[in-house]
Amino acid sequence: MLADPAPSTLADRWRQRDLAVLWHPCTQMREHPDTLPLVPIARGEGPWLIDHDGKHYLDAVSSWWTNLFGHAQPRIGAAIARQATQLEQVMLAGFSHEPAVALAERLLAIAPRQAGRAPLAKVFYADNGSAGVEVALKMAFHYFRNRGEHHRTRFVALENGYHGETLGALSVGDIPLYRRVYAPLLTEALFAPSPDAYLAEPGQSAVQRAHQAADALATLFDQHPGEICAVILEPRLQCAGGMRMHDPVYLQRARELCDANGAFLIADEIATGFGRTGTMFACEQAGVMPDLLCLSKGLTGGFLPLSAVLATQALYDAFLDESRERAFLHSHSYTGNPLACAAALATLDIFASEDVIARNRGTAEVMARLAAPFNDHRHVADVRQAGMVVAFELTRNGDKRTPFPAEARVGLHAYTAALKRGVVLRPLGNVLYWMPPYCVEDQHLDLLAQTTLAAIEEAVACV
Ligand code: PMP
Repeated sequence: MLADPAPSTLADRWRQRDLAVLWHPCTQMREHPDTLPLVPIARGEGPWLIDHDGKHYLDAVSSWWTNLFGHAQPRIGAAIARQATQLEQVMLAGFSHEPAVALAERLLAIAPRQAGRAPLAKVFYADNGSAGVEVALKMAFHYFRNRGEHHRTRFVALENGYHGETLGALSVGDIPLYRRVYAPLLTEALFAPSPDAYLAEPGQSAVQRAHQAADALATLFDQHPGEICAVILEPRLQCAGGMRMHDPVYLQRARELCDANGAFLIADEIATGFGRTGTMFACEQAGVMPDLLCLSKGLTGGFLPLSAVLATQALYDAFLDESRERAFLHSHSYTGNPLACAAALATLDIFASEDVIARNRGTAEVMARLAAPFNDHRHVADVRQAGMVVAFELTRNGDKRTPFPAEARVGLHAYTAALKRGVVLRPLGNVLYWMPPYCVEDQHLDLLAQTTLAAIEEAVACV
């Protein structure tokens, strides 16, 4: 049994109340609270989460990759408060409001562009990442229906990809732990090999690996002529799949293959968007514009659930008709919620008024410097970085051939070890990673690096 991170009667009372009524996400509830600590948080401030006893936890994973500028960031908080006294919600069918329109204008203005392509032109809102993915998949499918191309029904997704938990999003996801039990309910997607550079053969470069995977995607298109309506992928970084990274050339090849085969490219930038990988959007690193771009998480600075799907004019136009069935009738009650849009506008204001991407470049350099020594650690097989994301692949002998078995729960041990020391690291299997809010300073990163080392040592000692 692992030590409680913050034993106190107050915290214990919270835990009791919680476990009496709450069913937590992504959790084997039987593990609470003995194997898996449950930490009631009273408030947040900058990169810190603070419990009822005042214990501080450095949020090194930005609360599931949502938070950009710190917890309780005053500008975003104030924008939400202002909006709440103006208009909190109105249905977006038949009605409009300024935050929804202004946000769409600004998202389209900053969206990735590509020479020779008409820019993304329309924004459809949903209220979380998975819902945004559903929207993009349905739009792509429905487009071809509207055009009479009824044989285009299949999606291509990447091995080790993740796009959310709803059934459509799970169908194009490839993380067995989340997917396997629901397999009978899922539609059959085609899976193409991941360009993941970690999977490169000895002597194979990341670029060669990306080309090899793109060649396999080309073969898949050849095997299914005229059947594929879209390829969906996480550009540059497969997050839930263990922060696996790939060379941007893969995106260029995927773009070309989609064009050559008349299919759409859907970029899921729900996690990679808004500066995470070093550019505003990861697609920019390949100079590629997708036909559908899914955004969420950092879109509101991590304050409120909202997603946006950006689409081309050509795609949109195929839905204009006398028939209601040709229209995109998808709806969520909270589509384009004014409070969430106001939070997103305040987030974009911060990007506009401070050179966030440039400042992050400096922070990323500090992260790189602190991560470098882990390359020599006897249990670290790979240290990789994409902008504000650094990942450490733990293996038994520090080489790629000796992964820790899942049953060893190395990640869980590292998680509890870090939590005890006041840092939230939430490993993905055997991968520890840093994805902190952009407001982290050098002393936070020093703490993060020291704690990561201690957590690795403690975790491997447990297995
Ligand atoms: N796509 C990607 C790439 C994600 O990382 C996630 C969430 N981790 C989602 C989709 C789903 O978003 P949500 O959790 O808001 O449904």
